[in-house]
Amino acid sequence: MRAAVLTEFGAPLVAADVRLDDPAPDEVLVRVVASGVCHSDLNVAVGNLPASPRPQILGHEVAGVVERVGSGVTAFAPGDHVVTCPSGFCGTCSWCMSGLLHLCTDKNRARPAGQPPRATLDGVPVAQFAGLGGFAEEVLVHERAVAAIPAEMPLDRASVLGCAVVTGMGSVLNTAQVRPGQTVAVIGCGGVGLNVLQAARFSGAATIVAVDRAAAKLDRAKLFGATHLVDAGSVDAVEAVREITGGGVDHAFEVVGRPETIEQAFAMLRIRGAATVVGVAKPADRVSIGALDLLSEKTLRGAQMGSSRFRLDVDLFARMYLDGRILLDELISRHIALDDVNDALQSMDDFTGARSVITVDA
Ligand SMILES: [Zn+2]
Ligand SMILES: [Zn+2]
Repeated sequence: MRAAVLTEFGAPLVAADVRLDDPAPDEVLVRVVASGVCHSDLNVAVGNLPASPRPQILGHEVAGVVERVGSGVTAFAPGDHVVTCPSGFCGTCSWCMSGLLHLCTDKNRARPAGQPPRATLDGVPVAQFAGLGGFAEEVLVHERAVAAIPAEMPLDRASVLGCAVVTGMGSVLNTAQVRPGQTVAVIGCGGVGLNVLQAARFSGAATIVAVDRAAAKLDRAKLFGATHLVDAGSVDAVEAVREITGGGVDHAFEVVGRPETIEQAFAMLRIRGAATVVGVAKPADRVSIGALDLLSEKTLRGAQMGSSRFRLDVDLFARMYLDGRILLDELISRHIALDDVNDALQSMDDFTGARSVITVDA
């Protein structure tokens, strides 16, 4: 099957004919219909995570149709529509047993050592990003990295559920637990940030301030629930948010992954406010906060995959979309072919749309 393979950091992905093994007893083979292009893919492609194995198939926002299942799989059958998620779960580690599946210590659900690789290129093992490898015509994955979706759910829109939607909406609903009447600021209004915005609206937040530098992103932020817009390229974002909210917000969400914006998120909090960092920073990044600010009971906390229990959350968000209660159509700015994935990655930092989604021909 065709796949876009990372062979060298900073170089274009290479279109290659990758061989997938037969499903092991606990695996499913999924025909990819749609695959979102996320900033985390770019992070690996450019070498920001130098320990990442190569060759590797990137991509982790897949929606597709189950083709075959391993002999031990009972939860899925061929023909089922599914979404893959980067936070699979083992079901037995202490985090899984505590109900915190997104913190599973074995979430990539790779094959045990000594077993043949799932994917090979000319006989050489090919790694799968997040245990998935979605820039491909097919993915062979552990059954616990897959969530069922209703058959009436359009698969291109379903693809973004697996990362952008569970991460963004989950950060608000599960991690921060925003309550009606609270004030919220969101720094960074890309695909994930838009989902933070719409979950804040869904939670009943009274004031929702969107902060970004791109006019097109701020425009879209309005559609997703922002009540106020701050152009961080022309004004001081912290001062602007403090002025709009009369002293600071209950919740600030950082959806960029940079030390400066994490510090801004903390600085724009009111007393007892909480800054939730959704963006993924580089390993060497450090942040600095005013230590005395902690006296006013402020919180700076991390978030991973929206603290989601993804089989429950993916199903919930799919049904909310089908009921017309959340936006997904507007998240997909362009449909591209698998061969165009390099263009999408290279232009990502300048792209003012929301998400690019690869649609693979049946
Ligand atoms: Zn992602
Ligand atoms: Zn686990």
